[in-house]
Amino acid sequence: MLDALGRVLSKEFPNPERIGCPSRDLLKALAARQLSLTEAEPWMDHFAQCTPCFRDYSELRRLVERRQKLSYLGIAALVIMACGVLWVWHAHRQGVITAHNYIVADMRNRLTLRGDQGPGNGPLVFQRGFDDVSFYLPEGSKASNYDVAIFHEEPTEPLVSTMGAATMENDKTIIKVTLDLSRIARGDYLVGIRLPGTDWSYYPVVLK
Ligand SMILES: [Zn+2]
Repeated sequence: MLDALGRVLSKEFPNPERIGCPSRDLLKALAARQLSLTEAEPWMDHFAQCTPCFRDYSELRRLVERRQKLSYLGIAALVIMACGVLWVWHAHRQGVITAHNYIVADMRNRLTLRGDQGPGNGPLVFQRGFDDVSFYLPEGSKASNYDVAIFHEEPTEPLVSTMGAATMENDKTIIKVTLDLSRIARGDYLVGIRLPGTDWSYYPVVLK
């Protein structure tokens, strides 16, 4: 019915002088339904008798509706994106272990992969999570800064690396470092220790 009315109105009431027509701004406000019904009603009567206004109003109404539809689509897209981000965050978080572990790694008489000394006593065992590790360095090690890192295999870029200052305590040279092993999968790795600028000494470590 509205369509039929529209077809009739769009031809039947030409008003080339635009007598009694609202301003463009007022027309826009009407199309956006920013006026009260009482304010709008006289204009609706006018539109029913003025073809140019009826056309302009219909056009503006279409624009307003399209804009509304787009903003609903935009909101829907945002909601979907937010769900996606949450899902990824959740999935990622499940692979991250946040346990805090305290580990003593006695490196004295431990076999290095350089294969030079000591009987060795099996690989070190670290736990996934944040490991506060106290390394007891081999006898004769200097009290100095050391690089400590975890490697997948030798020689590659470390997966995790940090630095610690070794101190002498009761004849032992000890470095205390925190290793972030929260994102590393279980498995066999190497822990490397070196004085900065020198070669790494690698020791097998199992991450549980
Ligand atoms: Zn008019």
